[in-house]
Amino acid sequence: MNTPFDTIAAIATAGGPAALSIVRMSGPETAAICHQVIASGRSGPALSLSPAESHRLFYGRAVDPVNTTVIDEVMVAWMAAPRSYTTEDTAEISCHGGGIAANSVLRAVLAAGARHAEPGEFTFRAFLHGRIDLTEAEAVLNLVSAQTSDGFRHALEDLHGDLGRRIAPAKAAVISALAYLDASADFPDDEIPASNVSADIATAIAALEEVLAGAKSGRLMAEGATIALVGRPNVGKSSLLNALLRSDRAIVTPVAGTTRDIVSEKAVIADIPVLLMDTAGLTDSLDLVEQAGIERSRTALGRASLVIVVLEGSAPLNADDRTVLDVVRQRFDLGAAGPTPVIVVANKLDLGLSFSSHSVLVALGLDVPFIPISAHTGEGLEELEQVIGHVLREGVDASARPSILTARQYAELDRALLHIRQAAQALTDGYPTDLLATDVRIAGRAIGNVTGESIDDAVLAEIFGRFCIGK
Ligand code: GDP
Repeated sequence: MNTPFDTIAAIATAGGPAALSIVRMSGPETAAICHQVIASGRSGPALSLSPAESHRLFYGRAVDPVNTTVIDEVMVAWMAAPRSYTTEDTAEISCHGGGIAANSVLRAVLAAGARHAEPGEFTFRAFLHGRIDLTEAEAVLNLVSAQTSDGFRHALEDLHGDLGRRIAPAKAAVISALAYLDASADFPDDEIPASNVSADIATAIAALEEVLAGAKSGRLMAEGATIALVGRPNVGKSSLLNALLRSDRAIVTPVAGTTRDIVSEKAVIADIPVLLMDTAGLTDSLDLVEQAGIERSRTALGRASLVIVVLEGSAPLNADDRTVLDVVRQRFDLGAAGPTPVIVVANKLDLGLSFSSHSVLVALGLDVPFIPISAHTGEGLEELEQVIGHVLREGVDASARPSILTARQYAELDRALLHIRQAAQALTDGYPTDLLATDVRIAGRAIGNVTGESIDDAVLAEIFGRFCIGK
């Protein structure tokens, strides 16, 4: 078949210990390659991937092309074009285990003529074939990386075109305004009926503001936040980490430490997915005057969206505590304007509190929350969780509907809003319309970059459709 699209294959599942793994294929040679690599099973229907047999499940044996041994018994889900995710012929081969068999099947499929898919290429093809628009394609990315059920639900809504629907009023308004501005400039001799450009611009601003306002809470929901627990040895960081994990039932997958000496655990605190990093080993090296230890702690602090400094409330502050406070102070340039994502806790409250919160705040040189707790008895933990939620939600517009945007989508929509606001200002200041049109056009192109459509064609269509130019 003469087509610019070749046949691609990749393992679609995450790897790691699992009962099943899936090799996914898409493209015109999918059926031929499956027939080459997979022999019919001993029982059940013969493997016959034809359009007439679409959306059926076949049992077969994947065979190594080199030594002709059986790799695995597999199930092949067959979806003939165009009724598939990519709209191409597609097969999903379920193999046993967490990846060894799937890797061998993938190798066999590649040897038989498929090409290893680039990251995101199945979704890219769905987009190229018009099956989904760009907002939906990016929603797939969010969907596969979502960490909470809320994040997943919002990404799923986007996948069903929700983001596209939410920015549609902005797109329509920009096209309407541009059509009028262009028609007035390009066809001065034609009677161009009046159009309410300022109402269009106001509509576009409102729609863009609405989507962007929800971006921060959307991001918090989808990506979560990273919290670093710092403090000298023995103040109770590990105990606090465990207490925070235990206090949440919806826990918890252990995450292999990304940096040596840092233990991280996932949890949900105040409805926010968080990664708690216990920097135990790291702060052990703080009391040595060792530069490397301090450097490592700076790196960890740099990654954190919130730092919890743990002190031992029942003992006076010592030199190590002050070193820790110093490092945190340097990280956040404490004293600068704006909220500082730092919370100080005085642990071991059950043994008494030997210093006042005031002395700690003076040492820190800043007004940050100070919470006495006991990791053992649980006293103060609830307040700590509330404050964590409060600090992480700083700047989040709670009334806005969360929007889950990729960084690219956010940047494009933010640029669109900037230019459409400039157009509004130019309109108020009475600038000539061609200046206005430049800003509106930049805004329209930025919106078009999010939906994957060119607005230039839409504007032309609108001009000829609405104003009957040339008639
Ligand atoms: P880390 O080195 O900072 O991680 O500290 P750990 O969590 O290992 O705790 C050091 C010691 O303090 C252990 O013996 C804990 O049992 C004890 N500890 C931790 N939290 C509390 C607390 O809230 N009250 C009391 N009495 N002891 C605690």
